[in-house]
Amino acid sequence: MTKPSAFKLSLTATLSAALFATLLPATPAAAAAPAPVSIQVQAPALSVDASVQIAAKKIQRNPAKDDVFVNKKYPLSPKKYAPKTVAIQGSNVRLRSSAAKAYNKMAKAAAKDGVKIRAVSGYRSYNRQAELFNYYTRIYGKSYASRISAVPGTSEHQTGLAIDVGNANGACGLQACFANTPVGKWVGKNAHKYGFIMRYQKGQESVTGYSYEPWHFRYLGTSLAKSVKNSGAKSLEAYYGVSGKKSDSAPKNSKGTAQTTANLNMRTGAGTGNRVLLTIPRGKSVQLTGSKKSGWYQVRYSSRTGWVSGKYLSSISMPSKPKKESKKSTPKQNTSNAKSAKTSANLNMRTGVGTSHRVVLTIPQGKKVAIRGAKKSGWYPVKYAGKNGWVSGTYLRSFSSSTYSPKSSDPKSSSSASKKTIANLNMRSGAGTSKRVILTIPKGKKVSIRGAKKSGWYPVKYAGKNGWVSGKYLR
Ligand SMILES: [Zn+2]
Repeated sequence: MTKPSAFKLSLTATLSAALFATLLPATPAAAAAPAPVSIQVQAPALSVDASVQIAAKKIQRNPAKDDVFVNKKYPLSPKKYAPKTVAIQGSNVRLRSSAAKAYNKMAKAAAKDGVKIRAVSGYRSYNRQAELFNYYTRIYGKSYASRISAVPGTSEHQTGLAIDVGNANGACGLQACFANTPVGKWVGKNAHKYGFIMRYQKGQESVTGYSYEPWHFRYLGTSLAKSVKNSGAKSLEAYYGVSGKKSDSAPKNSKGTAQTTANLNMRTGAGTGNRVLLTIPRGKSVQLTGSKKSGWYQVRYSSRTGWVSGKYLSSISMPSKPKKESKKSTPKQNTSNAKSAKTSANLNMRTGVGTSHRVVLTIPQGKKVAIRGAKKSGWYPVKYAGKNGWVSGTYLRSFSSSTYSPKSSDPKSSSSASKKTIANLNMRSGAGTSKRVILTIPKGKKVSIRGAKKSGWYPVKYAGKNGWVSGKYLR
């Protein structure tokens, strides 16, 4: 690979720090007073897994208990809960003593079978998880970050009851192929006997909210672990009949639609004191989530959720079947600049630039991938099979300037004529802040440049609209 740029170095340093943080022993903190709460749920006849026995099961919310249930919808309470932990045998990785004891027993049994388990990561404090999550969010944005990493306060690692395991030689570390390694096979078959379950199984992302992690094991105690295993449930969520996904992306929240009667700022909260996310052009249809506060409505527009003043909404209707148009009517500004290439080998797509990043998936040789943005230290941000990640440019060829998506409506714009916004940026009707705001382009979006710069301002096109933006906030 070419000489790394300063940018890459700083990225690598951040990542190493974050990853290293997961490997370092955690300082045991005094256990916070646990909230002795438990909720009785009537398990509904969910379509999640019909084979699961349907019975009312108690969901443990007390974080001090070994069977505490934690996911994106059921965060730890208190949020910064910190258990007492001990180091497992021959390692710096820490777990709660019950889980550590069980792990030591399991590792010994595996060793007897000639399989050497390596503990990769155990207890992570709230603050450590925050570091990790913020790192991924900076790189990918929140939505993708939350598929591969937990929002602080929702990680099972914070309970001291979850452990990521690997092979002594590091083979397929934290990758899907770990499942086919000696340790992966052994723990997949035997972990439940020691009170652990594989928490995020293949194909369960829509239920658990996490992609496949054959290395992540959760201690539940032997009787519950066996019960989960024997039930046939593919996740704890299925076992309890609850969801692990936050509902914010679910369309079932929509209560109806409304139309904007002016260029309307969508804000992070109800009231003009909140930050502007974007400006919705006049006459657009927005989806109502059903939440209303002091005359403000929570709406969805252009795949973002925020609050707008009800004064500038008309035809507020609450049909039983909300229109899905608002999303579709928004031009996809990114596809117009998307390019594609072909893989010249079976190629690992990773979470970041460089081989130290986790593998998301392996793209087979000869497949077409969409290129999402600019090259960085020889790596490309790509999309393949619905996943985003980075691949080494060494194994890409047949670069094509034709769009990957056949739906593109703007084949003329070339990537050289595009720039990225580095802040939420007002697009105006002319060059200068005295001109009318047409809309606000969110930070990190690509805009196409339509012509020559004028007094530091660029004529651009974004979301199907033409206007001017200050060059100060373009890269
Ligand atoms: Zn894990």
